[in-house]
Amino acid sequence: MVTQSPVDTFTIRGRTVLVKRDDKMRLKGSGISGNKARKLYTFNATPADQLPDLVVSHGGAQSNAMLALAAVATSKGKRFRYYTKAVGRWLRRTPSGNFARAMALNTEIIEVHAEDYASAFGGSDGPPRAPSPDICPEGAMWVPQGGACADAEAGLKMLADEIAEYWGQHSGEREGREKELVVVVPAGTGNGSTTAAFLNRHLRPHGNISVATVPCVGGADYLSRQMRRVLGAPLEPLPEILDGASALSSSTAAALNTGKRGAPSSLRKRSGTPVFGAPRAELLAVWQELKDLGLFVDLLYAARAWEVLFETWAADTSPSAGADAEGGGEGGDEGAPRGARLLEGRTLMYVHCGGLEGVSSQLTRYRHLGLLEADAVQ
Ligand SMILES: *Cc1c(COP(=O)(O)O)cnc(C)c1O
Repeated sequence: MVTQSPVDTFTIRGRTVLVKRDDKMRLKGSGISGNKARKLYTFNATPADQLPDLVVSHGGAQSNAMLALAAVATSKGKRFRYYTKAVGRWLRRTPSGNFARAMALNTEIIEVHAEDYASAFGGSDGPPRAPSPDICPEGAMWVPQGGACADAEAGLKMLADEIAEYWGQHSGEREGREKELVVVVPAGTGNGSTTAAFLNRHLRPHGNISVATVPCVGGADYLSRQMRRVLGAPLEPLPEILDGASALSSSTAAALNTGKRGAPSSLRKRSGTPVFGAPRAELLAVWQELKDLGLFVDLLYAARAWEVLFETWAADTSPSAGADAEGGGEGGDEGAPRGARLLEGRTLMYVHCGGLEGVSSQLTRYRHLGLLEADAVQ
């Protein structure tokens, strides 16, 4: 069982990219991988007799966090109860993907109407609520959405330490600005974004390492608020946010990103930040391109992160070498996606967050929508 993950090198669109293979690490006992394994590291390492008999959480019906929690709880002989909004008749009748796997692990899945869900757990934008005892009985273990245990930081610090150690050993092989490492990681929602926020906390102090994150659920402004909340330290620097040319292209996005809370969801959808989880031909093309290079990623988070990275690269005037990127003038690049300057000339490390269990059910959705030939991808 590997708890340290390797770093692989890929050449993507002519650039050298380091990939931190958290998809390849496995936690003892539960066997979970990816960033959920980092977040649940402490839970996974806690002896069963020190844990209550019931674990309770909530979130989406195909969530990676749900499956990871189910695996850890089961490996410890614990019950796992999970609240989700309407599952849908189709999924109930023909369970697939993470939902089917969680059911196979005896997860007690409880469907809640949207309004009740919001009042029980807070809206997606609201502060997390301590659940009432009829949802999480006294003494049970409560895990907020996304597997953001209070002790998620310990496992993410281990990831940060592995990255810092790797860069300590390898930065000497690089020249000029390439000695600086930019670590890119996708960001989730709610108590998500935990990964990016804590990675930044533990990597920044190394000086030659910065962290950038791509909001996959909601826009940049929303993500900043989530990260502030997760960190609980108002003055702590946040990771750089990359949201690509597509999110910048609309003036609505600019208006929304100036900090107004609670913009109507219809506007958010038109603002250029694509709806999370919705199949799109562009996303599939990015995913397929990476797959053809031998980099197999998930379709929800990683494909969006790479779509944004490609847009950011396209706006980055210096090619891979980037030795002459110095003195390019900070901040004067009207119209360039956020973060183009940050990536310029620096070494890029992408953190592969796993989530590969969900890929086949996502591809099924692409097939149903006619975005993928029935026999195109095995
Ligand atoms: C959960 C998840 C993320 C997002 O992580 P957060 O800590 O919620 O930001 C990214 N990628 C994959 C594959 C995930 O499962």
